Amino acid sequence: MSPASLVRSTDGLADRFWLALRRVSGPNWLIDSSETVAKVRARERRPAQFCPTGNRLCNDIKSLLKMATKRKTARKKAPARRKATTRKKNQNVYYFGAGKCDGDGSMKALLGGKGANLAEMSSIGVPVPAGFTITTEVCTYYYDNGKKYPKTLDAEIEANITKVEKAMGKKFGDLENPLLLSVRSGARESMPGMMDTILNLGINDEVVEALAKKTGNAKFAWDSYRRFLQMYGSVVMEVEAEANEHHDPYEVILDKAKAKAKVKDDSGLKEKDLREVVAAFKALIKKRSGKNFPEDPREQLKGAVNAVFNSWQNDRAIVYRQKYGIPAAWGTAVNVQAMVFGNTGKSSGTGVAFTRDPATGENVFYGEYLIDAQGEDVVAGVRTPKPIAKMAKDLPKSHKELLVTRKKLEKHFRDVQDVEFTIEEGKLWMLQTRNGKRTGFAAVNIALDMVKERLIKKEEAILRIPADDLGHLLAPIFDSKAEKAAKKVGNGLPAGPGAASGKIYFSAEDSVKAAAKGQNVILVRQATSPEDLRGMIAADGILTTEGGASSHAALVARQMGKVCVCGAHGMTIDYSKKTLSGNGVTLKEGDDLSLNGFVGNVYKGGIKSSPSQVIQGLIENKAAAKRSDTYKKFMELMSWTDKLRKLGVRTNSDTPEQVQQAIKFGAEGIGLTRAEHMFFEGNRIDAVREMILADDDAGRAKALRKIKVFMKKDFIGIFKSLEGRPATIRLLDPPLHEFIGTMDAAQKKDLSKKIGMSAPAITKRIHALHEENPMLGHRGCRLGISYPAVTAMQVEAILEAAHEVQKKGTKVLPEIMVPLVAYARELELQKNVIDTTAAEVRKKLGLKKSELKYTVGTMIEIPRAAITADEVAKHAEFFSFGTNDLTQTGLGLSRDDSSSFLPTYQDAEVLNNNPFAGLDQEGVGKLVEMGVKGGRKTDKKLKIGICGEHGGDPDSVKFFHRTGLNYVSCSPFRIPVARLALAQAALEEQGMARGEVS
Ligand code: PEP
Ligand code: MG
Repeated sequence: MSPASLVRSTDGLADRFWLALRRVSGPNWLIDSSETVAKVRARERRPAQFCPTGNRLCNDIKSLLKMATKRKTARKKAPARRKATTRKKNQNVYYFGAGKCDGDGSMKALLGGKGANLAEMSSIGVPVPAGFTITTEVCTYYYDNGKKYPKTLDAEIEANITKVEKAMGKKFGDLENPLLLSVRSGARESMPGMMDTILNLGINDEVVEALAKKTGNAKFAWDSYRRFLQMYGSVVMEVEAEANEHHDPYEVILDKAKAKAKVKDDSGLKEKDLREVVAAFKALIKKRSGKNFPEDPREQLKGAVNAVFNSWQNDRAIVYRQKYGIPAAWGTAVNVQAMVFGNTGKSSGTGVAFTRDPATGENVFYGEYLIDAQGEDVVAGVRTPKPIAKMAKDLPKSHKELLVTRKKLEKHFRDVQDVEFTIEEGKLWMLQTRNGKRTGFAAVNIALDMVKERLIKKEEAILRIPADDLGHLLAPIFDSKAEKAAKKVGNGLPAGPGAASGKIYFSAEDSVKAAAKGQNVILVRQATSPEDLRGMIAADGILTTEGGASSHAALVARQMGKVCVCGAHGMTIDYSKKTLSGNGVTLKEGDDLSLNGFVGNVYKGGIKSSPSQVIQGLIENKAAAKRSDTYKKFMELMSWTDKLRKLGVRTNSDTPEQVQQAIKFGAEGIGLTRAEHMFFEGNRIDAVREMILADDDAGRAKALRKIKVFMKKDFIGIFKSLEGRPATIRLLDPPLHEFIGTMDAAQKKDLSKKIGMSAPAITKRIHALHEENPMLGHRGCRLGISYPAVTAMQVEAILEAAHEVQKKGTKVLPEIMVPLVAYARELELQKNVIDTTAAEVRKKLGLKKSELKYTVGTMIEIPRAAITADEVAKHAEFFSFGTNDLTQTGLGLSRDDSSSFLPTYQDAEVLNNNPFAGLDQEGVGKLVEMGVKGGRKTDKKLKIGICGEHGGDPDSVKFFHRTGLNYVSCSPFRIPVARLALAQAALEEQGMARGEVS
């Protein structure tokens, strides 16, 4: 990491220790508009857990490159246990420290997470260096008023500086006992490393001498001064590496000083060396900015506060906000706090810790520290921090105090805390606390453990687990035999659990490019910085050769649910040659590498992965996996959710295998079988192509007979697998481009032999059928209306299969669903065909009406159908919202073509998220509401479900709960997520919410 980026990204240690775990977890199926049938088929050959089944065109987590998963914003605040603080009118600045505070932990929206919790810690008697928070409202004011501040702000800041001076017994700018300040950002939701921080503020040529005298430690004073100049110069005065400059200019100066002094580390520099560094830094700043570095501490403070507010709109912060859906309007607070120093000698130090292990959830104190160091040293990777347990030997008194504080904080906040601390001359100071972000594994473990420990109730446990993060528990692990056989080339810290194989790339940019081409990528860096964010999003796994468990790579990877191995010190990277070496092996860019993020091992080549313990226990019925803690906790959690949720959960599945898997995940039936998806496998697609290409009834009938054979066989398998559960089967909806749009010459030749149509004739017919907008073309019920025989064949296949299965004693409940209806008359026409065909089937089989039952319903996926739902419902026994097409047609946004410009729309803040992944509740959601209202106006008890992609997205699922649907349907691997989200929705309806401070 370059020092400049380090400086810019050091937003307090805890920020760097993996803060904002958001819900970008494991397999995350987003619609990929550019995917072809060939790609779909290729994907379906991947291991089952990677197959987003049941979706028209899906993609994996790389879609996040283009469009981030929606962040869930609608959390209500849990009431604070203490009496809420009363706010003074027009108060812009809130004091904290020495047991007093103006704010409290419930005021995150106003004071930001950091500010609110500093106030809360202060109020419960935890030692916090005094300081004050400038509110997020000031940030909003600043941007709304041409970067000006409220009139009273200066006076409020002045008054608070006086309070801080009193509490700390030091004076800002004083030449005897000077107070230095830190200035840090602090948004409502933490954004680790994305905004600016300035430490050691208030130092100048005179103050440094006073500090040296007061502390009797001139080296420390000058070291603090050079650090301040480096931060202030780059952040406030914007003197940083220029575009064509490969090395950070401050680092160049430091390197020269180290070479001159013949020392390896910065810490080896003596007072006289540091004096020279300070002079060189000042000259650099003057030369490049044309301005003198401000000596006046108050001017420094103004500059720093401006810089932090400005950093709310820097590129990194914007990208981060987009990724996690944080509204720009929230703004950041600024925390100005007395500096305490961990770099004054052997009885000082600094560190970060979690009150429990954030990767596994184990109830152990987990963290690291450095003696004689300042915050950024822990994350810079220059010195390797020590595990917190070792502190018992190095600083026994402070370690004891820290353990007491650990307990106190967990008890007070009733959740895992992520803390930052400094020990100055043996005195412990807590600089920050917040609810610790955690992996999906840890979220489940901690929540269930805390119920056992009677710290929280079951309901709270359910609300605390981000539904999307359940995906972590389903993520694959390496096949143990394959892993044993693999060549180990390195080992580092297991910073992000999971198993990943991919091709190595050495820059964020190359990773993004490779991922866009569909490659699995492992991003390899000495250390990552916030500038690498896009590359990290693109990668399947991240490997760094430097840094510890609190390095940028570790915290961001865990936050994103990425597999990550950090600080593989035995490995070396040569960026110029683009090689990675370790254990005698040298790998080039594009070579395969595997990471085991559970234990930190790095292997040459790809490794076969195998399913997680949950999958092994649940799907594969393996006894050993069933004994694992993860499996047991997962099952217990799922059983809790089922007692709470009000909506059913069905699956989008197209094959008997998928259905069996889905049932194990908890599916209560099928919400969508896409008939056309049954034909993606093997040569089956030929029969559908033959049907589409037929230019007369006889040719079509011949193809339909072939299709019917496949369909009937599959339906028998599906009905058997369902064991009496309901099955919504959707009639064929084959957009032309998916079936005939991608055929190459060889495929045409092959098809020509099979269907007796010459290759040129096939080409001619494809041209004749060509549609400019196939998604709006001859698909869905339009096909059945043009060719009723197509519908009739399917009804025969469904009902004959139902008869076969039910005559052997298994109940069958087919629900025949008509796609793409816009007009009630379309449904009426199709229902007539279905009913007439059903009567013929019954007659042929000698069955009474009651002996072969079915229902007929429709997809609601065209706005007109939603708007006229009362009319449509006259012919329907059920509705199912097809929110994929409803989004496409409601927004006029192509599922196939919008991914190229959706990122621009996000940049411009037109969209917060990908509307094909998270429902556009204000727009498309209104259509859903209208559809429900209209449908139930005609039939009060109309059964209504959702089978679009949004049925597996937690936020959307909660919306469907609020809208009064009967069930959601999603692909098998999303079922646990939907079950949890529905339980959360039920609890939220009762007014419960996951409180940040409860
Ligand atoms: C939908 O449009 O939401 C739907 C489920 O159908 P498909 O994705 O197959 O078009
Ligand atoms: Mg559709």
